[in-house]
Amino acid sequence: MKENELDNFIICKKCHTLHRKIKLHHGTKALCQRCNSVIYRYHEPNFIDNLLALSLVSLISLIVAFIFSIMRININGIYQTLDIGSMFIVIFNNQYYLVGIMLTLLIFIFPLTILVSIIVALTLIKLKKSKYLVKRLLILIAKILPWSMVDIFFISILVAMVKLFDYAQLELGVAFGAMFLVIILDIFILKRVTLGDIWEEYERVYGGE
Ligand SMILES: [Zn+2]
Repeated sequence: MKENELDNFIICKKCHTLHRKIKLHHGTKALCQRCNSVIYRYHEPNFIDNLLALSLVSLISLIVAFIFSIMRININGIYQTLDIGSMFIVIFNNQYYLVGIMLTLLIFIFPLTILVSIIVALTLIKLKKSKYLVKRLLILIAKILPWSMVDIFFISILVAMVKLFDYAQLELGVAFGAMFLVIILDIFILKRVTLGDIWEEYERVYGGE
């Protein structure tokens, strides 16, 4: 079998059954014959543009989430504003350096690197330029994707909020909405597009050059 003939086949990620790929119709998806899980989806011809737009919105929201206040906490008339910047200052002032560095990586550096890499890679794919750089970026994204934990951070804030509700009044800030948007976009993007789809587009655009 020639190497490019393998491109006509796809393996179900769940049960590892091999399927021959067929062309899908608009809005449809291919299901595994054996376990019924989604193997791949039909992609609009402009899915790269959509993904690029969503990633840009996500990047802006993430930056907003880092700059503005997440919430204002009112305990018996004493106000305390919670934002990510001052949270880091408190962590480092209390000499929790390891926690601080881990948090910086997991909720700041990794998510930003992923989004910027996606945006640069997709833009280059659209311009059909810098094949090598796009390849490095896609590999980088795959490596750090499991380490982006904005969603877990958000959930822990929600849990903390539930505990605070008993004795404090909470006013949600701009950053709270922004972070919520980042999570929703993240789920939306991941449900529709996988890195495999971007690799496919990569192969299609740059071919066997
Ligand atoms: Zn399967």
